[in-house]
Amino acid sequence: MYSFESQIFRDNSDQLFEKAKKLYPGGVNSPVRAFKAVHGSPLFIKKGEGAYIWDEDHNKYLDFCGSWGPLILGHNNPMVKEAILQAVQSGTTFGAPTTRDIEIGKLIIDNHRYIEKIRFVSSGTEAVMSAIRLARGFSGKSKIIKFEGCYHGHVDSLMVKAGSGLATFGVSSSAGIPEELAKETIVVPLNDLQAFINVMEEHNGTIAAVIIEPIPANNGLLIQDHNYLSWLRQLCDKHDVLLIFDEVISGFRVGFEGAAGYYSIEPDLITFGKIIGGGMPIGAFGGRAEIMDYLAPDGPVYQAGTLSGNPISLAAGVAALKELQRPSMYENMQRKTERIKSEINTFTKENGYEFRIESIASIFWMNFSNKRIFASSEIAEDSPEKFKIIHHYLLQRGIYIGPSSFEVGFVSDAHTDKDISFFVAQLKMAIEAAYKK
Ligand SMILES: *Cc1c(COP(=O)(O)O)cnc(C)c1O
Repeated sequence: MYSFESQIFRDNSDQLFEKAKKLYPGGVNSPVRAFKAVHGSPLFIKKGEGAYIWDEDHNKYLDFCGSWGPLILGHNNPMVKEAILQAVQSGTTFGAPTTRDIEIGKLIIDNHRYIEKIRFVSSGTEAVMSAIRLARGFSGKSKIIKFEGCYHGHVDSLMVKAGSGLATFGVSSSAGIPEELAKETIVVPLNDLQAFINVMEEHNGTIAAVIIEPIPANNGLLIQDHNYLSWLRQLCDKHDVLLIFDEVISGFRVGFEGAAGYYSIEPDLITFGKIIGGGMPIGAFGGRAEIMDYLAPDGPVYQAGTLSGNPISLAAGVAALKELQRPSMYENMQRKTERIKSEINTFTKENGYEFRIESIASIFWMNFSNKRIFASSEIAEDSPEKFKIIHHYLLQRGIYIGPSSFEVGFVSDAHTDKDISFFVAQLKMAIEAAYKK
């Protein structure tokens, strides 16, 4: 191992983790939090403010995880915080419509070309699950096509990976999912139009929907070509198949209209989560009115939620989305992110390290190779090993990133140019440590 000048102690977090392991499976309420991929133990976070978080040992970290995406305005944004406090004064949930339903619905539909109607749920997973059911109910067909390397929450039908050999039918990637159900999902590689065409033709007439992360960001950042995405749209039209964009990460992240707006491609349904709730639990799905009207109570597809559209999440969402409409918001975040990319990529090129930062808007990813990649099969095999060293190094220097080489980083409005300079300087040294052997 490497010795670092500054040693950060995390005794309190370590003790809390020992206690948590007795209370929770793996000590956590969501698996990646356990730091297993980096062979560490998680930090217990005490508070967050702007671009920074503090752990239970009073260490301060510059945060590029941003609660895995929702915190595009940084931690504890004053406008969002005020909106939440205001909302709480009048009660937390009624299980009945409130004026906030009108406010957020209008804000989104008036400013998003491809959303005619929307419905709120409580998580991204729930949004995807509901969109899949709606697509099946609307089309009267049952098969779903998904792409290898795209994550859509822990929905049964989508926790599926490609079967071996020539079989295109999916096999479940988690215990507890019936193979019968997994078989209803067909998995194809990203960026392989011919594979997609073959599957669409072979299963013509039985496919309800194609679901894709238009900006795949859960298994590396696998930015696709515009042409590829627009071919998917055209082929879905040709075969009368619904196209679902899972924009739980990209929605409101790469622009107010998300990836659909970024590429000017109209999906039939879009799923949201993360940013749309301003840091409170949320999910949503929307799209063409003709399809959305298939939902209960008007239509035959049942979908419901006790806490759906609760006033606190909606108030936080409205406040966050209004902030995002301020001029230059997205441009500023993109400029800061591109600084990371260009400064690091110049450095690694000059030093002959096979390492690139990939980025789009305010999302970035460490690619342990020297060329842009489009599919999960192209990710360098030694990524986890090298990433572990970088992760450890950065944590010791007060920089917090998602604890896995497959996770992306997020720049927020709260990061300053000085924060970015600090990150770039530390990351350069971390890369040196990882490549020095
Ligand atoms: C995070 C994510 C989900 C799941 O959302 P949860 O709120 O964690 O259930 C689904 N799809 C994509 C693309 C995501 O990034």
